[in-house]
Amino acid sequence: YTGKTSEQLLTENIQKLLVSDYYSRPVVVNENTSVYDAIVTMFTEDVGTIFVVDKLSLLVGVVSRKDFLRASIGKQELTSLPVTIIMTRMPNVAYCYLDELLVNVGKKLIEREIDALPVVKDSEKGLVVVGRVTKTNITKALVALHNEQMLS
Ligand code: ADP
Repeated sequence: YTGKTSEQLLTENIQKLLVSDYYSRPVVVNENTSVYDAIVTMFTEDVGTIFVVDKLSLLVGVVSRKDFLRASIGKQELTSLPVTIIMTRMPNVAYCYLDELLVNVGKKLIEREIDALPVVKDSEKGLVVVGRVTKTNITKALVALHNEQMLS
């Protein structure tokens, strides 16, 4: 018996939740993709956030549902409008690393009022996109933590 309260145990377990254990595959489009094609990708891939990368897979921006709605309200031709025009671009993109704590991701999502972060790896040329963490991943981690506590 460790003499620890259930609150202490819960805190310890939250400190163990890493991005690397709960991240998802990233959905990306190239920087010369049209807004129209990026919307099709969002539908077919069933995600709310898409990362825009260059030909070296380096992060250049992010587009979400609201960006697409805003573009669609306008009178622009979406097939000839590049996604780079409407995306949130670097260096304004919030991101995280594989070895980061999931709670830290949660803090960034709350502070920036966003739904998802790209998971990146540093390279000499920039940030290579390797994954995606969303509110859903954090919810799954919370439920997994609960299920573990039930078994112990
Ligand atoms: P939704 O558009 O589905 O509500 P968000 O709340 O995540 O999705 O996005 C709101 C705004 O924040 C959009 O303009 C989007 O481009 C931007 N955004 C989304 N994710 C990020 C991120 N990781 N870093 C910076 N800006 C982001």
